[in-house]
Amino acid sequence: MSLHLFAATTSHGKLRDFRTASRAYSVSIERLPGLDEMAAPEENGATFLANASLKAIYYSKFAPDEMVLADDSGLEVDALSGAPGVRSARFAADAGVVDSPDANDNTDVWNNMLLIQRMAGIPAPLRTARYRCVLACAKNGALYQTAEGSVEGEILDAPRGTGGFGYDPLFYLPEMGKTMAEMDLETKLELSHRGRAIAALLALLV
Ligand code: IMP
Repeated sequence: MSLHLFAATTSHGKLRDFRTASRAYSVSIERLPGLDEMAAPEENGATFLANASLKAIYYSKFAPDEMVLADDSGLEVDALSGAPGVRSARFAADAGVVDSPDANDNTDVWNNMLLIQRMAGIPAPLRTARYRCVLACAKNGALYQTAEGSVEGEILDAPRGTGGFGYDPLFYLPEMGKTMAEMDLETKLELSHRGRAIAALLALLV
C-alpha cells in the first residue's frame, strides 16, 4: 500500500464505502483513531466544500503527519431552490418539525415526510434533484486535496425500498428504474455521489 488515509467519520456505512472504493487503488483507509472522544467541529459552512474542508483541517490536527479524509454530502432539490443542501441531515429539525438530534433516531423518517410535503403538487418534470458529495483531505492542519461527485435523480411522492439511508427511498434514478433504497450496496456505490467522489479523489492522490 503506497498511501494511507484516516477517515474522520463515525458512519460505518461511509467507512465501508470508502474502503470498498479504495480496493481499486493502492490506498488503505482506516477510521481516525480516537474519533469518538474528539469534540466535533461545528459544520457551519455554506457549501459542502466548506464543511468537508473545515472537518478535514480540524481532524488532521489530531493525527500529526497523517492524511485525514472528511466528507460532506446531501440532497439538492431543484424545485426547492437547492434545499435541503448542506442542511440535509437537519431538514426537519430546521423546520421545527422535530428536535435535533431526534432522541428516537427517526430523523430520516421526519426528513422524508417533510420532503414529501414540500414537493406535494409539483409535477414530474420539475421533481429533479441530485445527491452531492465533497471529500477533502488535509495534513497537519492544511488542506491538501478535494474532489466531488454527484448523481442526478427525481424525488418520488412516496417511499420505495428498504435499503440505504436518508432520502434514498424517495430518490429515484430513471435510467435504473429504481430508488437508491432498492439497489444493492455495490450498485449504489458505483453510481452514487459518494462512490464517484471517492474515485475522483483517489485518482488525484495516487
Ligand atoms: P452527511 O454527509 O453525513 O452530513 O450527510 C448529510 C445528510 O445528507 C444525511 O443525513 C442524509 O440525510 C443525506 N445524505 C447524504 N448522502 C446520502 C445518501 O447516500 N443517501 C441518502 N441520504 C444521503
